[in-house]
Amino acid sequence: MTFKDLNIIPAILKALSNENYTSPTPIQEQAIPPVLAGRDLLGCAQTGTGKTAAFAVPILQLLSQQQSNKGTKRQVRSLILTPTRELAIQIIENLQAYGKYTNLRSCAVFGGVSQNTQERALKQGADIVVATPGRLIDLMNQKLIDLQHVKIFVLDEADRMLDMGFIHDVKRIIAKMPKQKQTLFFSATMPPEISTMVKSILVNPVKVEITPVSSTVDKIQQSMYFVDKGNKQKLLIHLLQDKSIASALVFTRTKHGADRVVRELTKANIASQAIHGNKSQNARQTALSNFKSGATRVLVATDIAARGIDIDELSHVFNYDLPNIPETYVHRIGRTGRAGLSGIAISFCEIEEKPYLKDIVKVIGKSIPEVKDHPYPMLIMTPPPKEVTSVSKSFKPAHKKKPVGNHSNSSANKKTSFPKKYDAR
Ligand code: AMP
Repeated sequence: MTFKDLNIIPAILKALSNENYTSPTPIQEQAIPPVLAGRDLLGCAQTGTGKTAAFAVPILQLLSQQQSNKGTKRQVRSLILTPTRELAIQIIENLQAYGKYTNLRSCAVFGGVSQNTQERALKQGADIVVATPGRLIDLMNQKLIDLQHVKIFVLDEADRMLDMGFIHDVKRIIAKMPKQKQTLFFSATMPPEISTMVKSILVNPVKVEITPVSSTVDKIQQSMYFVDKGNKQKLLIHLLQDKSIASALVFTRTKHGADRVVRELTKANIASQAIHGNKSQNARQTALSNFKSGATRVLVATDIAARGIDIDELSHVFNYDLPNIPETYVHRIGRTGRAGLSGIAISFCEIEEKPYLKDIVKVIGKSIPEVKDHPYPMLIMTPPPKEVTSVSKSFKPAHKKKPVGNHSNSSANKKTSFPKKYDAR
């Protein structure tokens, strides 16, 4: 199967070949023909499957085949709503690459940066707008964007929109578009609020479901290091000394955690930058482009900041902290091993994270091989069953029991109720 077999027009074929896309991915193969035929689409697919081109390519083709009236200002004929700025930037970059030889114009609208450039681009006229909900609503309120002429609407990562509290904004935006339009709806999961929305806005959609979670992770080489919390930084530095690690995306649970890791790596002369919600949009973009260009070898990120960011040829993902939502593990390690490349995912697990590990193993349906031979093995013993109150029997004498109380800020926001913390330090 080639893109030509999918009846893609020469202008787009040429651009895809510039991108070295030789054949469509499964989601592209399944989604492009019905979208070109004007059907609504319900796609259950995650980032990393080629989802962006699955909607971007047919949109570019449909819009360039019905060019807007010459001489009049371009109207927004397609709106792509996505939850994060990073995704918006990535989608616009892809649209501009695939649409390079068409006459279409696209622009992105997202918060965290000045409105001026986006306002100017809209005034000049755009056929396609890629937007995050907050800034779009701001611009709509200022009457700087008109959605009355939208013919194709894409809702990307609908479940994330819900998680991030955007669903109300999304509904307000939908209300400003014509009722009659083509809608492409993507969501990796279908919580009840999302399926209600699907029923209310999609008309007889074609359903496309791609890659059950486990097959995505199958080609990624995964390993688990059990380590005490206080030794995670040392272990990370030790592993990153390996120069064969070309690029590493390191996930921490918190923004402060990300900053701490960067500070320690910097002290150890390992070039790294952090990307998280407390950083300005400019700082995030600089960090991301330094990482993409190879200027920074290590990017330390929180989940929200890293969601969907597209890094070609990312060799390693580190789970410095295990996520408390098991699906997040799959999303994280899916940053590596993309578009057919193999990847390596290394995870650290301290004693309090063991319950998370159990949930992850359940979701991926297999255990993660443990690396035992490393310089910082876990020294903390497993806590005793609840009824055992004395520490002395089941613990090495050197291990002191920490008083359990609200001084332990590290476990304050964790879902798990692991009973007690034992520390050898
Ligand atoms: P996405 O799921 O849209 O984020 O795409 C994941 C990665 O796959 C991106 O780096 C795309 O550039 C790449 N990609 C998408 N479609 C293809 C294709 N047909 N052939 C090769 N790479 C692709």
